[in-house]
Amino acid sequence: MPLHIPTPLIASAALSARTGREVWLKMEALQPPGSFKLRGVGLACETHAKRGAKRFVSSSGGNAGIAVAYAGRMLGIPVDVVVPDTTSARARELIGLQGARLTVHGASWQEANELAQGMLGPDDAFIHPFDDPLLWEGHATLVDELAQAACCPDLVVLSVGGGGLLSGVVQGLHRNGWGHVPVLAAETHGADSLAQSVAAGQRITLPSITSVATSLGARQVCAQAFEWTQRHAVHPVVVTDAQALVACRQFLDDQRVLVEPACGAALASLDAVPTQLHAAQRVLVVVCGGVTASADSIMAVR
Ligand SMILES: *Cc1c(COP(=O)(O)O)cnc(C)c1O
Repeated sequence: MPLHIPTPLIASAALSARTGREVWLKMEALQPPGSFKLRGVGLACETHAKRGAKRFVSSSGGNAGIAVAYAGRMLGIPVDVVVPDTTSARARELIGLQGARLTVHGASWQEANELAQGMLGPDDAFIHPFDDPLLWEGHATLVDELAQAACCPDLVVLSVGGGGLLSGVVQGLHRNGWGHVPVLAAETHGADSLAQSVAAGQRITLPSITSVATSLGARQVCAQAFEWTQRHAVHPVVVTDAQALVACRQFLDDQRVLVEPACGAALASLDAVPTQLHAAQRVLVVVCGGVTASADSIMAVR
């Protein structure tokens, strides 16, 4: 039994009416720790547990850290999460609720990550938030569930941070005979490391992250994600923070589910489908979820 749950696949009447397409939602927001991350993180943690790991270490103050904390609790293995000073009180609380030990260290993720790496003993496993074949393998199960439901999309829409979700979903498309299905890869301005890499023809590193969609805030995407853009029809789309936030708010009204701006970026990109994909009728949106948003923070947006 995997640690993640099979998620509902829902036809959205509201989004279908608004976009003039048949919009289907893969509801990863309903994973117990709030995001798709559990698919890959759960598989990675289970695999390391079988190999004898006695502790999991993460340096993510976001959804990955929360997923590692959840997986550790389920497997009965202690978890240490190191986060920087900037990690919100809410995220700290959620990591603690899952029973993980939290260490706050450093001004940025880099410093927190250095401490986490230094803590690693011989029986510890470091769980990366996006750059690990085990994660991609786990994320790919999302597409296996679509295949079981016989829902063959003309287009898949998802968000990109470090590119773990993209790598897993494209892997899943290929292993289910859907290697021809294009992917719309959504980012926000200020976190658009994939779009800029595709435009430059090589992996670039952003000088800094300036978007509110913190879960998309990887300054560089993993090599695997960039390689897929050379071998699969991946179309980057960049939306504004405001568009992502408005999409979250609209989604709350439409589907009664709260998602964070990182997920709002994918929802907002439905209004920015490039012309070469206009014929796509059946569109599958990966509702990646996220726990950093509160109803107040989303409702504050006009
Ligand atoms: C991690 C995350 C992303 C980005 O996923 P990557 O694998 O880093 O590209 C998007 N949305 C949410 C809610 C996330 O937790």
